[in-house]
Amino acid sequence: MAALTDGQSVLAQVAIGLLLGLVLTLALRALRSTASRPLPGERLMLVTAHPDDEAMFFAPMLFANRAVSGSAMKQRVNVMCLSTGDADGLGRMRRKELVAACAVLGVKKEGVHVYDDAKLRDGMDTHWDEAYIAKLVKSEVTKYKIDTIITFDAHGVSGHANHRAIARAIAGMVLEQQLPSTRVFALESVGFVRKFLGVLDGFFSSYSEWFFVTPPGGIADTWTAMSKHKSQFVLFRKAFLIFSRFTYVNTLVELS
Ligand SMILES: [Zn+2]
Repeated sequence: MAALTDGQSVLAQVAIGLLLGLVLTLALRALRSTASRPLPGERLMLVTAHPDDEAMFFAPMLFANRAVSGSAMKQRVNVMCLSTGDADGLGRMRRKELVAACAVLGVKKEGVHVYDDAKLRDGMDTHWDEAYIAKLVKSEVTKYKIDTIITFDAHGVSGHANHRAIARAIAGMVLEQQLPSTRVFALESVGFVRKFLGVLDGFFSSYSEWFFVTPPGGIADTWTAMSKHKSQFVLFRKAFLIFSRFTYVNTLVELS
């Protein structure tokens, strides 16, 4: 069989790209028909550990709530980020990157609260005290009259120690009934295979009561949001965005 010419090869690649795009769009539309009702509450707060957690892990949930917020409505979602992500000395830059990324995801500058706290240093080996985290979370909940918290589950998606410390602290607050007027939702972690199934994991996730799917146009927004984290937007994170189910779907579990 004759080899493809350069022109034919480019055409074949474009055709494959268009076909994949079509399949992806159809899959997302099918999944969205059963998903993405917004979370309850007037004022929501996403609690993360590092700038870029919001774009890499929580975008599908944020899109569902961005659609409700609309441009004319008051701020509905806050992001409480407990560190500047200063492990490599880039904290000041990363704080600004987070604000830019959040704007793409529907969270205004005044809703982005980044902590630069000596007790909460970014790092896989740094210990974050759960009682201290709980104190800060309680203070934000009271100050901003937060109805609904969203955060990591016990595994913290990637197993990062800082993600897990936040999850333990907030789960502990729920257990001790320190958040009587606030509903708390945890982002479900999944095993390695499901984590990198991309949009296909939507078909395994649709059982969840709290199931969020990125709208077809939202994939470009997630990419744009992550690109605002310029200091982090390296090859392996680009690959993560393409293959990770967290780009396309989120499932949450309510803690009670
Ligand atoms: Zn993180």
